[in-house]
Amino acid sequence: MAQLLDGKAVSAAVREEIALEVAECKRRGVTPGLAVILVGDDPASRVYVNNKRKACLALGMLSEEYALAADTTQEELMRLVASLNEREDIHGILCQLPLPRHLDEQAVIHAIRPDKDVDAFHPFNVGSLCIGDPGFLPCTPAGVMELLRRGGIDPAGKRAVVIGRSNIVGKPMALLLLAANATVTVCHSRTRELAAICREADILVAAVGRPKFVTADMVKPGAVVIDVGMDRDENGKLCGDVDFAAVEPVASAITPVPGGVGPMTITMLMKNTLTAAKATLKD
Ligand code: NAP
Repeated sequence: MAQLLDGKAVSAAVREEIALEVAECKRRGVTPGLAVILVGDDPASRVYVNNKRKACLALGMLSEEYALAADTTQEELMRLVASLNEREDIHGILCQLPLPRHLDEQAVIHAIRPDKDVDAFHPFNVGSLCIGDPGFLPCTPAGVMELLRRGGIDPAGKRAVVIGRSNIVGKPMALLLLAANATVTVCHSRTRELAAICREADILVAAVGRPKFVTADMVKPGAVVIDVGMDRDENGKLCGDVDFAAVEPVASAITPVPGGVGPMTITMLMKNTLTAAKATLKD
């Protein structure tokens, strides 16, 4: 049976550590504060924003939410970001994506001050990650690395294959694995002979967005399989990009969905907010 990489348990352990550090920050006069901007009424985004708020409050952090109407203008949004950039009590700012189509996401990402960019989407933070001098780590890939670390899996010298090249998951995932000394291949929709490439992986990360895309014949016996996907199966039930029932007997370690990578993402967001707040502490 494969080792189950339990994101709920790891997330709870990391949050306990964060809570202790939040308490220490508060003792020194700084309450870590996160501002979350939500534009429009996308139900999935609303759930994510609620979960971020709950996580903040549970850790003793300040949580501020800005729920803006779907017809908010670019100027209004940029003004809000500019005012949050100036606030001393707000250490992290994030704008829940995707934004309504009339708004320019990139402009908003660029407008968030890099030292408050707790999602690590700003080009400054992306570039820092690229050159191996990261400030904030992108939350989902950082959550995967934490799961590997606490699961006793060292990527050094291993062959890692990442399926997916999005800016949010695939690309930064590949960079973090590279920084951990894995030999990394990134696959995407134009990759030829995908299954054969995947079968070479000691660590296979699926970030595709297609239910049960990774089947047992794509996995080398004994591989570590990380499932970032949050998809719906034919019955509307939450599932991942990996066919868990078929792949689990082949893998040496695997993340479930739900309860794998998902819980780690918000935890790493909390960690970034704490890091941002700690940077403002006076000696
Ligand atoms: P995305 O932006 O849609 O990117 C999907 C990637 O998969 C693209 O690079 C695409 O290739 C590639 N792809 C699509 N079909 C493929 C195929 N047939 N063969 C090989 N590659 C293929 O999605 P994302 O934002 O990275 O998210 C990926 C999944 O992770 C989704 O299920 C999402 O819900 C989930 N997710 C989970 C968390 C979490 O906290 N657990 C966080 C973020 C995302 P091209 O570039 O060529 O189009």
